[in-house]
Amino acid sequence: MYPFSFTKAADTREALTAGRRGGRYIAGGTTLVDLMRETVERPETLVDISDLPLREVTVTERGGLRIGALVRMAEAAAHSKVRTLYPVISQALELSASAQLRNMATIGGNIMQRTRCTYFRDVTAACNKREPGSGCAAREGFNRTHAILGTSDECVATHPSDVAVAFAALEAHVHLLGPDGARSIPFADFLLRPGSTPDREQALREGELITGVEIPAQPRPLQSGYLKVRDRQSYEFALISAAVALHVRGGVIREAKVAAGGVGTVPWKLPAVEKHLVGERPSQSLWAEAAKQAADGARPLEHNRFKVELLQRTVERQLRIVGGTK
Ligand code: SF4
Repeated sequence: MYPFSFTKAADTREALTAGRRGGRYIAGGTTLVDLMRETVERPETLVDISDLPLREVTVTERGGLRIGALVRMAEAAAHSKVRTLYPVISQALELSASAQLRNMATIGGNIMQRTRCTYFRDVTAACNKREPGSGCAAREGFNRTHAILGTSDECVATHPSDVAVAFAALEAHVHLLGPDGARSIPFADFLLRPGSTPDREQALREGELITGVEIPAQPRPLQSGYLKVRDRQSYEFALISAAVALHVRGGVIREAKVAAGGVGTVPWKLPAVEKHLVGERPSQSLWAEAAKQAADGARPLEHNRFKVELLQRTVERQLRIVGGTK
C-alpha cells in the first residue's frame, strides 16, 4: 500500500466539497481497497460516505422502487419490496460474491465495480483501461471470460456486476448529485462502452455522487428472475447470465424485459429478443426462437466462441423458467 489521505464526510455537503477537490468516494470498500492494495488504483484522497442518509429502499409516488446508493447488497436482496416486486434483483444480488462481501458492499459501489479482467489487475500487463495507450493484453492473451458484445480494439473486458444486469433489463435510472445539483440518467447511459477510452467507465461528472437507483413502475403482474451460469456454483463471476421480466395478460406477453451479463462490456440489453416476444403467446418454440437473437452482433475472441451458443441457451432457459412452457 502507499500513503493516501482519508476523510469521513459528515453530510452530503462535506462529501461533495471533498469530491470536487478530487477525493474518491468509498463506502463498503470491497473493490477499491483491493485495487489499491494491488496498486491498480492510486487515489490520493478517500472520502468515506458511509454516514450519508442513502440507506433507504422506498416505493416511489409513481409506483417504482428506489434503492439508496448505500443500501448493502444483502439488505437490498432481503428487502420485502425488492423480493416481492422484483425477484430478479434479489436473485441477482444473492448470486453475487460471498455472504461477507454482500454484507459490506453497497448498491452504488456494486454498479461502480471495475472489471475482473486479470490483465487489468496485473500491473505488469498492457492494459488500456488501467494505463491508456499501453495496449490490451487480453486481445492476444487468454480471453475465455471476456466480452463478445460491445467490444472495441482497445478493450474487451466484461462488466462484472450481476445486479447491473437486472437494472439494465428493468430500464432503471441512476440518481446522481454533484456540484451542479441533482440529475437522473437512464442506466443504459450510465455505464459506458469502452470505445477508444476504456479508462472512462461511467457517465459521471467531476465530483458527482450516486444517490440511488430507481426502477420505474412496471405493469403487473410481472414475473421475473435471474439465471447465472458460471464455472463453479458459488463465489464466482458469470460466464453468462440472463435477467428476464415478463408481463403476461390474457395469455399474451404484453411486455418483455431481457438483458444478459458476462457477454458485454456493459450489461447487455436484448431488444431483438424482447421484440420477438411481445404480442406472442408463451411456448417452448417461442422461447427458442426469441433466444436465437440474443447473440446478434457478437464478435467472439479466440477463447470465448463458446459464449455465443451458451448465451442463446441461457436466455432460452431463463425465458422458460420465468415464462413457463404452456
Ligand atoms: Fe485492459 Fe480491457 Fe484489455 Fe482487459 S480487456 S487488458 S481491461 S484493455
